[in-house]
Amino acid sequence: MNKDQIEFNKTVNQKKKEASVKGCLRGGDEQAGCSGKIVSAHSIQRGKILASIAEGNEGKIYYLGLTPAEDMMSMVPEFKPEGIKKFSTFSGFCGGHDKAIFQPIEDAAFTATAKQKDIYAYRAAAKELHTNLESKRLCEIQLGDKLGEDDFPPHFQATLPMILQGHLEVPEFIKEVMIHGATNHQMRSRHKQCEHNIAELSLICNALTGAIEHDRSSEFEHIYHCLNEAYPVACCTSFIPYFDHDGARIISEQDQQLIALSHATSCLDIKNVLLNIFPEAGETHIIFTFSKGNQNFKRAIERLLKLDDDSLRIGLSNIILNYSENSAYGPKYIEENFSLEQITTIKELFSSTVFNPSAFQKGNINLFIKAPSATPQ
Ligand SMILES: [Zn+2]
Repeated sequence: MNKDQIEFNKTVNQKKKEASVKGCLRGGDEQAGCSGKIVSAHSIQRGKILASIAEGNEGKIYYLGLTPAEDMMSMVPEFKPEGIKKFSTFSGFCGGHDKAIFQPIEDAAFTATAKQKDIYAYRAAAKELHTNLESKRLCEIQLGDKLGEDDFPPHFQATLPMILQGHLEVPEFIKEVMIHGATNHQMRSRHKQCEHNIAELSLICNALTGAIEHDRSSEFEHIYHCLNEAYPVACCTSFIPYFDHDGARIISEQDQQLIALSHATSCLDIKNVLLNIFPEAGETHIIFTFSKGNQNFKRAIERLLKLDDDSLRIGLSNIILNYSENSAYGPKYIEENFSLEQITTIKELFSSTVFNPSAFQKGNINLFIKAPSATPQ
């Protein structure tokens, strides 16, 4: 890494630290029923899942992340090693609630009961909610008093592209003011998006905790699927599925624009879905969770599960790579099973949607490679 890259990482980490949110999501504003301090909760279980994927004395996994390029002009995707003590943690629960809520999946074998599926889904929603609370705070810190001020009015929006393309000349200081305004404008949109996500994810969390604590069904349903081999691949994520596994639109462009403008006020209208994948007891478990009102997504997953085994695994891999930023992989498994060319494709699929959810890319990667069967004698 060169000096600029190191400096960039330092600044990013410092900003993230300033924006960190420590509080118990279950306790709410009053921290009701909370006990113990706020813990580093794992969104992907450390003891059973990450430990089984990790390698080496220090227990490292691979995850896909972005690093600034040498010339600092772009972000480059790569597999990064990370210790399992730290990976996938978030400061969103007090010790008491963390233990009470997640015990039925931490200490008992996974048998795909309704309650266990609800708890897995809840953890994915809580992790995403916490991420959005921190992103929102980061926007507020960076915007300062520009949060409520429009410093990128329509005439700036109309003329800046022409100025940047050299078709229109203005004094340098005006150009700088406009570029700064454009950055703030983008951050204000991001801030709004976080507010929408927070509203919807809070609805999901409330519905699921209601179901978990009172043993009843909620407005959310699960589709569970199981591969009969344990793969060192795990993810715990929440996303809006604009596209299905094949790159076909589930949500129209028009609806996508509407989603960006407002948030759902009822669980049945929620488009956010949750996905948990994890190896346990010789199998790989896959849980999709979505609103009962989201029939388009349900049909898309049903189509995926009807495919032949290889196509199903490729479709599932497309979903993970395009939609999940919280996935762990076994380092050796990746290095030994995928060619350099395939690893490049994996990174491309991962980075395509990070900045633009409309840029879903369909690939031919299968993240769940079957162990070679013994050659018949
Ligand atoms: Zn608590």
